[in-house]
Amino acid sequence: MTNNVSLPLLGFAAFSGTGKTTLLEALLPKLTEAGLRIGLLKHAHHDFDVDKPGKDSYRLRKAGASQMLISSRNRHALMTETPESEAEFDYLLSRFDQSQLDLLLVEGCKNIAFPKVELHRKALDKPWLYPNDDNIIAVACDEALDTELPQLDLNNIDEIAQFVVAYVDLERIKHDNPPSTQQKSKPAECCDTLSPATMSVTQGQQKILSLVEQQVSTETLSLKQCVGKVLAKDIVSPINVPQYTNSAMDGFAIRSKDIGLASFEIVAEVMAGHAYSGEVKTGQAVKIMTGAPMPADVDTVIMREQANEVDGVVSFTTDNIKAKQNVRSAGEDLASGQAVFTAGTRIQAPELGMMASLGFGQCEVLKPIKVALFSTGDEVLEAGEEQVANTIYDSNRYTLFAQLERMGCDIVDYGILEDNEQVMIDCLEKAASECDMVITSGGVSVGDADYIKLALDKLGSIDFWRINMRPGRPLAFGKINEKPFFGLPGNPVAVMVSFINFVEPALRKMQGEENWQALKVQAIAAENLRSRQGRTEFSRGVYSTNEVGQLVVRTTGKQGSGILRSMSEANCLIEISPAVDTVKEGESVTIIPLQGRL
Ligand code: AMP
Ligand code: MG
Repeated sequence: MTNNVSLPLLGFAAFSGTGKTTLLEALLPKLTEAGLRIGLLKHAHHDFDVDKPGKDSYRLRKAGASQMLISSRNRHALMTETPESEAEFDYLLSRFDQSQLDLLLVEGCKNIAFPKVELHRKALDKPWLYPNDDNIIAVACDEALDTELPQLDLNNIDEIAQFVVAYVDLERIKHDNPPSTQQKSKPAECCDTLSPATMSVTQGQQKILSLVEQQVSTETLSLKQCVGKVLAKDIVSPINVPQYTNSAMDGFAIRSKDIGLASFEIVAEVMAGHAYSGEVKTGQAVKIMTGAPMPADVDTVIMREQANEVDGVVSFTTDNIKAKQNVRSAGEDLASGQAVFTAGTRIQAPELGMMASLGFGQCEVLKPIKVALFSTGDEVLEAGEEQVANTIYDSNRYTLFAQLERMGCDIVDYGILEDNEQVMIDCLEKAASECDMVITSGGVSVGDADYIKLALDKLGSIDFWRINMRPGRPLAFGKINEKPFFGLPGNPVAVMVSFINFVEPALRKMQGEENWQALKVQAIAAENLRSRQGRTEFSRGVYSTNEVGQLVVRTTGKQGSGILRSMSEANCLIEISPAVDTVKEGESVTIIPLQGRL
């Protein structure tokens, strides 16, 4: 379902010509009579415009206002230009002031998943939508039909209105008393259930983040050892940058009061790393190099290209000299005592260079997170060993190793866990006492009878989740001896996708990056992308820019969750939200670029 609506949402789906608008026009008075305040979302063709050429608002919009709000005593309308791509359904719904409405009706948006009534007129001889669309909850037609769905008379507005009013009542009851499996309404608490629960990707992420805490141990390392680590304390500049006022150009330094004089006697020459401490009087200049300190009396530099130097005298070929030009003041970039970086900043090339530029030789950073890594499964064989019948080589521990390594973790590799419940319990408890986090892969599917699951069950504080996503539906999460535990699925691609979505954000929080969020951008689908309503689909994608500079994305092809090569070919994940079943070629879709993350 869509994320942004707390109101009942109902659509009307039909082929054009069925009379959707005429029906809605007749229906609305009946609904408002019944006390419902209605919001209506209508999808129109891309060249549609609410405005008229020649009107002021139209002219101002065309002149460059990307948002135009026009208001009068009786109404206002906000027109937002979206030339790049059409706004997403969820976003559009969020534009309504839902506190002022009881029901949101939608006309159009055929390929978006939300409850709809199908309208069908026999005379038009169009195919039915409901047999292929689970979102259709009723049909309104003018013929007898063999279906389990509620049937309404297309020409009986009162009957349709009654259906809509009853639908709103039912939705309100559902909303006020959500079923107990709905995690959303429960407070986030640890280990609240051992029974399988279904949750969205966001719910899973939020729950995990609410249960992991930031690392507190710190260490002081020499600067070069800090690459990829996270600052434990705020960094305040101990010096002025630049340290001294200096010239920004190779040229001639003069007193600004002398601007306009015809020529200047050159009294000194200053190179970078040197200084001139003598006087500079009216009518005198100092020849100066970029970065050299400005002598005390001068404050303006004219660049060499605008100067004529003959026998120790310089004149300038430009009339356009401004006082204090081409001079960098001491502390202009950063004053001594000014904040530079806050604790929680990850140290990469710019931060490292910046800290060096401030004279820091070492730095206090958070200690790396120590992660225990296991594989499980009778069929799993250590890489490098001779192949045995009915086995697969353990790849998950290697992918995870590399992903953890990239995150700057200390990894303790516990190998492949023996299929013995007591051995597993002992190993997991030992790992949790020695490390800050424990990760396993395999054996956590609901219904699996793997030993790992029995062992985790006995440990007592692990939940088995079913996340509404593909790949990566099963996920075990909880704590062993207060240390976060992740039981990732077994499928190699699912392992990576689960790591990206759940483990990495948790690690980043533990490492001190408080509000880290994965980069997500919009790209145009270069092919039809299929998903299923109600779950988040993460396809492996390849994005690029097309001839006109737009970001476009295609899939890597076959999307089986065991095909690790598809991860290698991909440079992004394509994220199709649960509200959408199909993204058509040319439509906009969310991508998560993977550069720097794998
Ligand atoms: P499971 O979740 O245990 O049912 O595993 C799902 C699939 O992932 C099975 O085909 C397993 O053989 C495979 N799998 C499990 N663990 C690993 C591993 N460490 N490396 C590669 N594949 C694995
Ligand atoms: Mg297994």
